[in-house]
Amino acid sequence: MAQTFNCSSCGAAMEYTGGSEHRVTCLYCGISVAVPEEFWREAEEKQTLNKWGKYLIIFLVIVVGIPTCLGLIGTILGIGGSLIGIVIGFLGPIFAALVKLFIH
Ligand SMILES: [Zn+2]
Repeated sequence: MAQTFNCSSCGAAMEYTGGSEHRVTCLYCGISVAVPEEFWREAEEKQTLNKWGKYLIIFLVIVVGIPTCLGLIGTILGIGGSLIGIVIGFLGPIFAALVKLFIH
């Protein structure tokens, strides 16, 4: 979000688009004008918030995301294991009966 202020020398409108540069060169008279402090202070506060927001997301991914994924994998493996157990439980007696049939 660009903020405008006036050149202290010629009064032309100047634009501050954010960032670490606290001075803007006037397009008309070419002098370097200091950006009003409240403009870049606000931009810096936003940047700090963005940075902390990123850390918060990383923190949440590590604290919540990874355990959730591991839990899901564990659940899926558990369900898979149970299904295999059920299938073997069903097939076992049938297989045993077939073996008995063929042996006798
Ligand atoms: Zn100027």
